[in-house]
Amino acid sequence: MEKAIYPGSFDPVTKGHLDIISRTSSIVDHLIVAVLENPRKQTMFSVEERLEMLRRSTARYSNVEIDYFGGLLVDYVKKNNIRIIIKGLRAISDFEFEFQMALVNRKLCPTVETLFMVTNSKYSYLSSSIVKEIAGFGGDIKDLVPPEAYDLIMQKFRGL
Ligand code: ADP
Repeated sequence: MEKAIYPGSFDPVTKGHLDIISRTSSIVDHLIVAVLENPRKQTMFSVEERLEMLRRSTARYSNVEIDYFGGLLVDYVKKNNIRIIIKGLRAISDFEFEFQMALVNRKLCPTVETLFMVTNSKYSYLSSSIVKEIAGFGGDIKDLVPPEAYDLIMQKFRGL
């Protein structure tokens, strides 16, 4: 049973993330989408909110599970017998950091492979920060985030 993990902040989930989730779920048996809980990184949405947005957005994929982790990704990978780490690549600017992380993770856990999935060109400009920037200035983010997460995201902005 080939298990993969797609880790990230998902603060909040975007259509770019969902595209990677959908394409990966069609090639592995089981995909864990894992929200990074990092107390040192300031996020707009709590872990519980990010999990809920992901749960709603991925409900139609029966082989996708939503979870969270703190600390080292490789510790979670080892504990759950995961062989594959999935990373999305938008541009060369993503590459340098992800390349280093892939080498570090292999050093810490030699059995794990990092696979890079190239963005869908439709979403190559899309990031969580862009979504927050646009929504923060009252712009329309409907086309940028999964419809199932839209209300939860907008609630946060209306409450600010
Ligand atoms: P971001 O704030 O940049 O969206 P995340 O930590 O939530 O960052 O991203 C998690 C993973 O998803 C990373 O591997 C990132 O490269 C990838 N990713 C994010 N947006 C896209 C996109 N539009 N297309 C492809 N991959 C993406």
